[in-house]
Amino acid sequence: MSLFQSDLHNHSAQSRCSRPEMTVEAMVCRFDELGLRIAGISDHVYPDGKAIERYRQTKRELADLSCTARIWVGAEVDVLWPGRFDATMEEIGTFDYVLFACTHYQNRTVPAPIASSDEAIAQNAVDMMTYAASLPFADVIVHPFHITGMERYRDGFSAAAAIQLIPDESFTRIARDMAKNRIAIELNGVLEEADYAQAMIRFYRICKIEGVKFSLGSDAHWLAGMGSIMHHQAYVEALGVTETDIWVPEG
Ligand SMILES: [Zn+2]
Ligand SMILES: [Zn+2]
Repeated sequence: MSLFQSDLHNHSAQSRCSRPEMTVEAMVCRFDELGLRIAGISDHVYPDGKAIERYRQTKRELADLSCTARIWVGAEVDVLWPGRFDATMEEIGTFDYVLFACTHYQNRTVPAPIASSDEAIAQNAVDMMTYAASLPFADVIVHPFHITGMERYRDGFSAAAAIQLIPDESFTRIARDMAKNRIAIELNGVLEEADYAQAMIRFYRICKIEGVKFSLGSDAHWLAGMGSIMHHQAYVEALGVTETDIWVPEG
């Protein structure tokens, strides 16, 4: 078994942004078709107090299904602003693993940066990442610096220009905190966006140097999107990421 045969970021229909076709049963079939050995269902947490109920429901459905892949049930928690995320500690302690999302400005609960300049956006992204990297109960920071939701404030916004403004020193500080707190960094299906992928090479290389582990996640919201992270093998190899660098849940 190779840890490269893992995909820990997939949204079932319990996530409001997912398609109804993402039933647990259909996802399990797809995990097997893709040849995955370790897979994860990671639905969004909503502030309705029902995240644990949803987690248990997914677990119950999985118990009735057979699958070659070992399947974990995690959750994707939003970093709202530096100092605040949108899950309770009881929820965090219940999920099999926890993904922390930086940055989801498309969600109204996540305040936009103080200005819409690349400089302000870059600083806010660094602040959000610095906070997420300080949380010892976080398992993975997902789609790092993939800055979504700024299109509302600026036409033609591209995260790449903001990412390029971030100095190596800031990336290194974040990566060191992640390594210290044993938080993995995600290689996400959004690497299909060429400018984002190119801009992120610098940060991912620093993560590798600092000993941060890497987690593979398609971030699928529909069946055809599952396994999309497998299309980025060349990118992963170019970073020098080997099997010993891959993070999967323990136990
Ligand atoms: Zn996300
Ligand atoms: Zn997601």
